[in-house]
Amino acid sequence: MTRIAIIGAGISGLATAYAIEQQAKQAEIDVETLVVEKESRIGGKILSIKEDGFLCEWGPNGFLDNKPMTLDLCRQLQIDQQLLRSDDNARKRFIYSEQVLHQMPENGPSFLKSKLISWPGKFRLAGEMVVPKRQSGGDETLAEFGRRRLGGEALDKLISPMVSGIFAGDPETMSLKSCFPRIHELEQQYGGLIMAMLRLAKKKRAEIKAGKAVASAAGPGGVLTSFSGGIQELTDGIAAALSGTVLTGNAVLQIEQKQGGFLLNLDDGQQLEVDMVVTAAPAYAVANMMDGLNDKSSTILRQIPYATMNVICFGYQQERIAFDLNGFGYLIPKAEGRDTLGTLWDSSIFSQRAPEGMVLLRSMMGGAANPSAIELSDAEVKARTMNDLKQIMGIDCEPDFVKIFRHHHAIPQYTRGHAQRLQELENSLHDSPDLILTGNAFYGVGLNDCVHAANKAAAKVVVRLEKKRE
Ligand SMILES: Cc1cc2nc3c(=O)[nH]c(=O)nc-3n(C[C@H](O)[C@H](O)[C@H](O)COP(=O)(O)OP(=O)(O)OC[C@H]3O[C@@H](n4cnc5c(N)ncnc54)[C@H](O)[C@@H]3O)c2cc1C
Repeated sequence: MTRIAIIGAGISGLATAYAIEQQAKQAEIDVETLVVEKESRIGGKILSIKEDGFLCEWGPNGFLDNKPMTLDLCRQLQIDQQLLRSDDNARKRFIYSEQVLHQMPENGPSFLKSKLISWPGKFRLAGEMVVPKRQSGGDETLAEFGRRRLGGEALDKLISPMVSGIFAGDPETMSLKSCFPRIHELEQQYGGLIMAMLRLAKKKRAEIKAGKAVASAAGPGGVLTSFSGGIQELTDGIAAALSGTVLTGNAVLQIEQKQGGFLLNLDDGQQLEVDMVVTAAPAYAVANMMDGLNDKSSTILRQIPYATMNVICFGYQQERIAFDLNGFGYLIPKAEGRDTLGTLWDSSIFSQRAPEGMVLLRSMMGGAANPSAIELSDAEVKARTMNDLKQIMGIDCEPDFVKIFRHHHAIPQYTRGHAQRLQELENSLHDSPDLILTGNAFYGVGLNDCVHAANKAAAKVVVRLEKKRE
């Protein structure tokens, strides 16, 4: 029986443990998985808090159904019947620009009508068609890409808010290739984004005509999907399906190489002997564990920075809010100089997020561009959020319910040079095939990305076990 430790019980660690068990079973290999988690609870960034009839998500509020990974996992776990799709109105997303909320245009005609981008900005955007493909040069930041292909206004009003919505990141430092590999590929393959859209639309029409394409019910951006009890049902569901052990309240301090395996030193003095290790903890934590074991890897892992973030949940009696909360919420470009990054209208996105007659709003504050926000007192965070809600939505009453969460290490930042660093990391691990790294610090931060990476990490484990069996 091979004993495999998985360090970290976030979605990455739990999905890895589950995938190892399933894939090993198929390969008829006996394994024992042991998930080791520092906190007293599982879930990592996933935590759905129920209080006073509100359901507040501490971190993510769902996953997009336009990629198959998490949906497939839910089917395997037989929890897909409990999935809750976001309300159709949640497709309406807004950007706050020049003191007005603009609905994000969803197609060409609505883009032309929208006042979000000025006419010169629209012409510049249309000029993307004639911007030559980037032939060479180093790793381009999102800001450099945006200015080069789409113009400064589109960068400020479309790209920056998107980057802060997904990564809480600063486009001036983030790598296009690592954050949005598909966009990078589209430029390389089709010469530009508009050209890519036209070609792909043509291809899709042809496929539909030939009866080949199955039109996605999800639409191009996918539908945000969760559970009636919150996204935590996903991590709870995985943990419940594991045959191995989940050890909570035990931080791994150090991973030591031992003849034919590893020794994990835990913070309570325990030592665990295992044959293989998969780390699924944040990069800075894995760096500490690997000090002494592989200093090169530790150094590279420490170079992956994390953005901080405050999450602010406000509940109100519906009748006190005159603003029409029909939609997903809004993001705020940095140029607006507001304290919050944006606000999600959580009770409009999913049902059962607020008690009858109440609404729930969830604002984000901080991110890579405003790291000091994490230091603000609760009173200051509340006051600044209220001020933004008043300016943007005209809400000038005290919230009836307040909950403030702080993420000191919210989201890893794929900054310029990220891909090169990952290559060096992989090289540094070349001689340690029984030590595998996964988690959101490397190839995507979305839940779908984490599940995808978990499946790949599990496949590596099983390939290794098959080799050992030979
Ligand atoms: C506020 C916020 C909103 C988000 N919204 C969305 C969203 O709507 N949709 C989406 O797809 N994604 C979203 N994301 C991103 C997504 O939630 C994360 O990328 C994902 O949950 C990370 O999972 P993970 O398992 O890789 O890492 P984590 O969830 O961070 O798990 C790592 C685990 O390792 C443990 N650990 C740390 N050190 C040790 C140690 N020494 N020993 C043992 N264990 C250790 C930690 O306690 C933790 O449980 C959001 C993120 C945040 C912060």
